[in-house]
Amino acid sequence: MKKKSLFTIFMILTAVSMILAACGTGGDSTTGEGGKVKLIGGTEASFAPFEYLDDKGNIVGFDVEIVQAISEEMGFDYEIQNVGWDPIFSKIQTGEIDFGAAGITITEKRKETYDFTEPYYEATQLIIVRDDNTDIKSVEDLKDKKVAVQNASTSHVAAQKILGETSQNILAYENQPSAYQQVINGNVDAAIGDNTVVMEYLKSNPDAPIKTIEDPSFEKEYYGLMVKKGNKEALELLNEGLKKLKESGKLAEITGQEIDF
Ligand code: GLN
Repeated sequence: MKKKSLFTIFMILTAVSMILAACGTGGDSTTGEGGKVKLIGGTEASFAPFEYLDDKGNIVGFDVEIVQAISEEMGFDYEIQNVGWDPIFSKIQTGEIDFGAAGITITEKRKETYDFTEPYYEATQLIIVRDDNTDIKSVEDLKDKKVAVQNASTSHVAAQKILGETSQNILAYENQPSAYQQVINGNVDAAIGDNTVVMEYLKSNPDAPIKTIEDPSFEKEYYGLMVKKGNKEALELLNEGLKKLKESGKLAEITGQEIDF
């Protein structure tokens, strides 16, 4: 009798540990339907036209379409979570997500900690001021002004170059529309933001009392999909797929821009 119950307990423990093992993710990427690789992406969905929420709350935009097309080419499953800008970076580090798809500019600094796919979009920065503003015409005029940017973005770095790295006149917000909003409210003199996203904002908010100023001193930027440094599996899948989209013309169809690398 005693022997039998010990055996039963042993069997139960074995079964439980097998179930637990099956639930664990084990490696870097999870397994999706039918044993396919599943990659989890992170984004910040207030960056139209690259990522934004539609009426039903779904994340849509160029980046989602690009990842969808890549996954079809390469035969993997994916999910994109709206985690917010700063968490994209930290969650890739902790392995909670596998990649970032958020109009992320490939920079030398970021390349110290992350790997990027080939570039899929060319962008630059624009200055945003109230449309009745007459004293700001270029980057030079921002030196003694209050400037709003998105925290830890390339706009933030651009503002630091102009005003100084520790300038108290730089106000950093969680996303780009919040920075533009500060100009509209008159809390700051100007904002700096990614050109395509600023233009899209103006298109969807035609009554917003703001205008844009170009300045040739803003460098060209290139967006890439971002993974943890050394995550070869994810990088190769994304890169291979992206190359195919470039070759087939699908990428240009999605973004409306030809990019050749
Ligand atoms: N391209 C900018 C950057 O990488 C902003 C990206 C974003 O806000 N999603 O810093």
